[in-house]
Amino acid sequence: MRVVIGGMNHESNTFNPIITGPEDFVVFRGEEMLTKGMLPYYSSTGIINTLSAAGCEIIPTVLARAVPNGVVSGPFYQSIKSELIERIKTAKAAGPIDGICLGLHGSMKVEGIGCAEGDLLTAIRELLPDIPLTVALDMHATITPEMLKTANAFVGYKTAPHIDCQQTGEHAARMLLASLETGRKLYTAYRRIPMLVAGEKSESEAEPMKSLIKDCRDMENRPGVEAASFLLGFPWADTEHNACCALVSGFDDPAAAEETARELAERFWKRRRDFSFRSEYYDSAESMKKAYEAVLEKREHPVFVSDSGDNPTAGAAGDATDILERIMETMDTVDRLPTQLLYSGFYDAPAAEACIKAGTGAMVDITVGGNWDTINGKKIPIKAQVKKIVRDFGPYHSDLVLISCRNMLMVLTSKHIGFGDDELLPALGVNAAEYCLVVVKLGYLEPCFRTIAQRAIMATSKGCSNEVLESIPYKLVRRPLYPLDPDMECSFT
Ligand SMILES: [Zn+2]
Repeated sequence: MRVVIGGMNHESNTFNPIITGPEDFVVFRGEEMLTKGMLPYYSSTGIINTLSAAGCEIIPTVLARAVPNGVVSGPFYQSIKSELIERIKTAKAAGPIDGICLGLHGSMKVEGIGCAEGDLLTAIRELLPDIPLTVALDMHATITPEMLKTANAFVGYKTAPHIDCQQTGEHAARMLLASLETGRKLYTAYRRIPMLVAGEKSESEAEPMKSLIKDCRDMENRPGVEAASFLLGFPWADTEHNACCALVSGFDDPAAAEETARELAERFWKRRRDFSFRSEYYDSAESMKKAYEAVLEKREHPVFVSDSGDNPTAGAAGDATDILERIMETMDTVDRLPTQLLYSGFYDAPAAEACIKAGTGAMVDITVGGNWDTINGKKIPIKAQVKKIVRDFGPYHSDLVLISCRNMLMVLTSKHIGFGDDELLPALGVNAAEYCLVVVKLGYLEPCFRTIAQRAIMATSKGCSNEVLESIPYKLVRRPLYPLDPDMECSFT
């Protein structure tokens, strides 16, 4: 059997003014997908492994991924789409294609187009209208009518943080193989759940997601149900279709899928008031106050503060300064801390460049922040010493700079790469465990930080990934929508 595979993965934050372009993406083309592109945290890896084990002839097209950020450049998206379509045309000319299996995010937005997944799937369907097409999605996918119209079956991640990407790819591939082997047609039922969930309230190890995901797994044992998923939408995208949903794919019996989707949607809706933050949380000023008290009075070490409103891995700009302003106002307290305060960090290409130009050891007068997020970010003047420079770090080739300003150590990056990477601080020779107070632009702490944090405080800081959804000035999302409309009612038929 000849099966086309491909992937496109980006979570686009429409509040972030950065346009995500070619320099932000890693792209694997053709055969590269089967070699360099086989990374453990890609759904396409599971797709490829499963199809290979079944003896399929795999037709790789394009796999494009970037760190969450602002919407994707129109010309760049068009170039990726054309390449993918051209590769399918070439394969089609060489012989019949039996199926298609894709790994997509589901919340990628493109300038001038909107939903990238709907646009791409529509173009693929024009070329290959009748063959089975299954898709592995991120849990934060936003389902649109175009997506439902074009693909036969979907399955989303069941974990957040996402540690089942590969397994989800395997699941999508298994559904495709089952359809190809039996000739049975896959069917998908969808129920919109009119609510959004802040990212940090949806960890799958915490309630209510823990029970709700178990419900999905239980439902997958029902006859006629192949995949049951909750897809949560992406709260930091102001788009018409943004909402949670229950999505159920199965064979033969649309009624079983429809009834299962309805039941799941009902269960999710009933638990809507149970979604809550797992860690203690306060506004920015209060978070820093609590952190100073914890270090200076209770001798806790290290205390972590998440600058969650400006989390680049949730697509925020990475240069909002709500917390930095609070720190600068309290530098006398910072100076009394037993170790430097470590701040990881800021995406600030001009500041990083100025430091690199000055060189290690040099004193610099720079501004940090406020290049992109000019609503929540200001250019904060900082006099600092350049402590360390690392060029060309990681798959996105970012420069890293460590600067020291009074009793604060700060990381700057030249590219929008996020600060959850467990290799970033070690690359700069920094061991976070040695610092009494660590501020990090993240939401829930990644395992590398969670395991060392004696105390974790989440600051509901201002930025493009503001966790307080009720305070976000949405214009396009369909109302009523919980929790923006807290008293709304809803029923599922
Ligand atoms: Zn996600």
